[in-house]
Amino acid sequence: MSANPSGSGPGEVLAEAERRRTFAVISHPDAGKSTLTEALALHAAAIEQAGAVHGKAGRRGVTSDWMDMERSRGISITSSVLRFEYGGALLNLLDTPGHADFSEDTYRVLAAVDGAIMLLDSAKGLEAQTLKLFDVCRHRKIPVITFVNKWDRPGREPLELLDEVEQRIGLRPAPLNWPVGVAGDFRGLIERADGSYTRFRRTPGGATRAVAEDVPADLAAAEEGDAWTTATEELALLDEIGATLDMDAFATGSCTPVLFGAALPNFGVRALLEAVCRLAPAPTPRADEHGAARPVEAPFAGQVFKVQAGMDRAHRDRLAFVRVCSGRFERGMVLTHAATGRPLTTKHAQTVFGRDRSTIDAAYPGDVVGLPNATGVKVGDTLYDKRPVTFPAIPAFAPEHFMVAHVKDNGRAKQFRRGIDQLDNEGVVQVLRSDLRGDGAPVLAAVGPLQFEVVTARMENEFGAPVNLTRLDYTTARLTDKESAPVLSAQRGVEVLTRVLDGAVVAVFPDKWRVRAIEREKPDLTLTPMLAA
Ligand code: GDP
Repeated sequence: MSANPSGSGPGEVLAEAERRRTFAVISHPDAGKSTLTEALALHAAAIEQAGAVHGKAGRRGVTSDWMDMERSRGISITSSVLRFEYGGALLNLLDTPGHADFSEDTYRVLAAVDGAIMLLDSAKGLEAQTLKLFDVCRHRKIPVITFVNKWDRPGREPLELLDEVEQRIGLRPAPLNWPVGVAGDFRGLIERADGSYTRFRRTPGGATRAVAEDVPADLAAAEEGDAWTTATEELALLDEIGATLDMDAFATGSCTPVLFGAALPNFGVRALLEAVCRLAPAPTPRADEHGAARPVEAPFAGQVFKVQAGMDRAHRDRLAFVRVCSGRFERGMVLTHAATGRPLTTKHAQTVFGRDRSTIDAAYPGDVVGLPNATGVKVGDTLYDKRPVTFPAIPAFAPEHFMVAHVKDNGRAKQFRRGIDQLDNEGVVQVLRSDLRGDGAPVLAAVGPLQFEVVTARMENEFGAPVNLTRLDYTTARLTDKESAPVLSAQRGVEVLTRVLDGAVVAVFPDKWRVRAIEREKPDLTLTPMLAA
């Protein structure tokens, strides 16, 4: 046993880590992410009735009502963590905002998960935002389980969908189950591993457990007729082409297990839940900035992947979301903030479940801890106990929208500075500055234009410094360096600024053709693309 005063040792940490699955759902808006999240939680009986998680229009319950803007648009900006136990496993489902404009947050959440479910609409296949998010998974080598949703509605052929996944994103699909009946005439699922058949019957009212019935294969063959024959022929074809799961290839992100179903009537959701428990990886040692792995059982270390202010009206504070990477977290611990060396108390550590928060006493690798009022803590920062470590920064995504910000009332200059700093630390926007800008006003850069509405609303309501934002005609940014900066600044339509958060030198351009023209003319300049969004 260890000498840890709490009585917990490395063995306990390893065992707790081993049963955790920390994952997110990536999808295009409307593919059914909210519905699937509810169905998963419902299966695990984490919430009483589907609908209690998301505050979407027409559904019960709310996650976050912190801004009128959010409500009026019927979108969820804030994200929360759902936790449920299933068959001995403990699942942390990190929810991501669904709207395309809030993708920056979604990307950061992917820095905190060990696996992802790629959710496809059976009629649409791979869509724009799914592709972008998948790129992030690929970049981080996150294993991806694919769920083809809405099989109760007319859609595409299953083989065609698999082919699309393989051809467009180079991910080798390995179906775990196979639908009997085309999309829109869904009869049931054949489990590939053992050939067993589950038939589904709709229940009235939608989001409740569907009636699932195990039917012996010979009986099913007689009753389902042609649909059965087609499914078994397709299965034989899959066996022939070797479309089976290779766990190593899955772990490194080149092969994806595929499941079919329909989240709304709750078809095939249990099989997905079981696949997550069985296949998705438990937390593994995380590499620090020098590439050295921090063992899961090492003293506590965690990375901040999100900082959120004013989550709802009852809690007008700032919450840093920390993903536990190693060790046991105990409320009350005094952690070290790696970036500054400053101590950080954790007396008020919380879990965030939907909109509810409660005190958390202990957490293990894979868990998410919310630390209120963690002053000076930024997205990407590392917190540790005892043995120092710094995890690599979470990459910032290439901004495509740029605005220069001025305070409306010069008497509020101090509040303005404080607000801009805060929004920068939270990663709401990237703040860029340049001495060459006459008035020294900050330039705000974002992936999606809706971020600027968040800035305007929060600067006024939270910091008491209403702002004027003026659009700049740039659409593309590249990372550059001090040597290239003067040459670039002299180019027509180009400006060079410094990113406040990390000091990176960023060049901004009216469009990508201008970048290409300059690259052709002056091949010696440093022009590194930022992570595509
Ligand atoms: P999100 O934007 O990805 O979170 O998507 P939602 O969960 O809000 O779903 C978008 C729409 O698709 C809603 O009207 C859902 O009721 C519907 N939907 C989701 N899953 C299914 C499904 O399996 N079958 C059918 N027919 N509709 C679904």
